[in-house]
Parts: sequence; C-alpha cells; structure tokens
Amino acid sequence: MSRSELGAALGVTRSTTGLLVAALAARNLVVEGEAARLGSPGRPSQVVRPNPDGVAVISVEIAVTSLAVGLVGVGGHILQLVRTEREPKGLSVKRTIDDVAQLVESVRAWLPPGCWLAGLGVAIYGVVRRADGFVHFAPNLGWHDVPVGKLLVERLRLSIPVAIANDADLGALAEHTRGAGVGMDHLVYLSSEVGVGGGLIVDGRPLVGAAGCAGEVGHIQVNPAGVRCRCGAIGCWETEIGGAALLRHAGRSAGSDSVAAVARVLDDAVRGEPTAKAAADTVGHWLGLGIAGLVNTVNPRRVVLGGILASLYPLVAEIIDAEMRLRVTAPAREVLDIRPAELGPEAALLGAAELALAPVLDDPTLVPVQLTQRRSA
Ligand SMILES: [Zn+2]
Repeated sequence: MSRSELGAALGVTRSTTGLLVAALAARNLVVEGEAARLGSPGRPSQVVRPNPDGVAVISVEIAVTSLAVGLVGVGGHILQLVRTEREPKGLSVKRTIDDVAQLVESVRAWLPPGCWLAGLGVAIYGVVRRADGFVHFAPNLGWHDVPVGKLLVERLRLSIPVAIANDADLGALAEHTRGAGVGMDHLVYLSSEVGVGGGLIVDGRPLVGAAGCAGEVGHIQVNPAGVRCRCGAIGCWETEIGGAALLRHAGRSAGSDSVAAVARVLDDAVRGEPTAKAAADTVGHWLGLGIAGLVNTVNPRRVVLGGILASLYPLVAEIIDAEMRLRVTAPAREVLDIRPAELGPEAALLGAAELALAPVLDDPTLVPVQLTQRRSA
C-alpha cells in the first residue's frame, strides 16, 4: 500500500503514518519500494511492502508418515522446507525429537542475513494443550502424555518462543488465512492423513474448547456396529473415513507405505475399478453423514476438505450432496458450500508458522531495531 492508503486504512494522519512506517522499517519489517503509478495523474506514491526477509519463524509438522521443518516468513512465504518420510518404527518420542532437532538445525542455516527469528511453531497429529505443548494423546503416533513443548525447548536450546497446536486446528488457520477459507467467518476444516482431524472457526475465531481440544471430530461415534478405533472406542468417524478405512473397504493392506497404498485406491477409483470405486463410495457416504452432523451443529458457510479427503471429494461429491439433502436443515444447506483445500500438503506447516508469527503481528515492536537496514526495490 502507499503511505496515503495506509493512513486512510488506519484513520491516522500523514505524520503518524510516517512514524509507524519508520518504526517498522527500523526493524526491517517493511521496505519502501519504488514509486508506483496508481492509475491517477500527479506525483506517484511510495509503496510500503512487508519485507519477506525481515522476520521468519521455524515451522515444524510432526505427522505420522512424515516430518517437515520449514523456514517461513510473513505472508506464508516459505523460505526453505525439508520434509522426510517416516517409517512406522521411527515414531518413538526420542527418535522424533532427535529428528526434529536435526532438521531445525539444517533449516536454520538458511535464515537470511538480518532476518529476525521470531519463534518456533509446531503442528502435531494429536490432542495438544496449547499453553505448554503437552500432548495428551496422539493415537496414530502411539503417544500418551508427552511434554513435547518441554522436550523440544530442552533439546533445541533456542531462546525463542515455542507454540504447539493440533495439526487440523493449524490447517484450518492456514486455509482461513490464505487458502480455501479466506473471508469465511464460519468454517469447518476436515483433514485426513492416517487419522481424521477437524478445525472449526466460529464467528471468525477458532473454536478451542474448555480444555483446548475442541475439534476432535475424528472420534465422534458414527457406527456403533463398526470397528475399534485406536482411541479405544468403537465406530469413531475416523474408522470409517480415514486412509485406513479406505484401504479396509477396498480389501487392501497398507503394506510398507500406507500413503502410496491409499493413493493407489484413489487412482483406481478414478479409473472406475469396481472395488476401489465401491470403497470410495462407502467412505463418501460416511463422510457425508459426519459432515451433515457438523453442519447441523455449527452451521458453517464452508466446509474445506484437506489431505486425502481433498483427493476423494471429486469422486464422491454427489454422494455427499445426497447426504446433505437427507440430513441437513434447509437454511443451513442453503448457505453451505463444500470444497477441497487449496494449500495442499503444507497447510498444517503454514498454520504452525502463522501461530508462531502471531505475537509479532500483534506487536511488531517485539522485533528489535536493526543496526543495519536494507532497502530494496
Ligand atoms: Zn476414536
């Protein structure tokens, strides 16, 4: 934006705008670019832009089948990203913390000169207490009561804040900020890798819950005659719609690479192979049934489907629509649309970056004034 546009947007005077821009520029957070012609005659205005290299965070995703660590700047700008696949036998807490520490070290080396490292954000596939990153339960990792926040701080010896949250909550945050949910104050985000996670945004704010673990929609019971879930209960939603459910319905085993096995079922279903198609249809039915329950509960404007659900959706959109017509109240259905996520596999990682950047976006003076300032066009 030009300074005059900034002043108008903030409702402050020209001199106040100048002071604010100077305060941000002194911290390398913005740069003033060359004059832009804004379609009007007269003197062109200087344009103030966020400096993509001014402040960054380290973002970590602890998933079941992979680990990812990124260096992310303001605006979801990924400066560096490393993702490694994980073997089922490599999921122990110690091994995970060691692997994350190694990846963080390698990614940190890419921090641009003069760039302020503001924090570390972690997305984890489990039930997390945000205040200190204590993981109560991560059924698909096989973890119970693990102080991940404390372990990471001790292992990494970083003097930056560490923020940890559930992967689906962070996927919802990222899609809401700059993906398929932009501008949606009432949003349900569902994602499936091995399990199923949900992130709900109600009235523009994430639904957190009294214990901080709202959105565990994967463990809503949908099928009392179903199979046992990793959480111990019977017939949880994730036993009917996750990757494992798709493989089970298709009569296939996960083999050594469950991600590839799930992708093969989806490919076969696209080609019309009858068993794979029937498995996709069955999952589509359960997906629709569960979404209908959520829509009746929170009345979202949009449901965004991530992970394998994004790939599945085009195959089963009609089945899901039929479930909506059957089960959802008309007023809720009239304002609803369902669509695949837009940020792809990095949604949770980008959400973790947003979480870590939030304190600086709230108060940019947390970044110290830099001695060497750079100007760029
Ligand atoms: Zn369960």
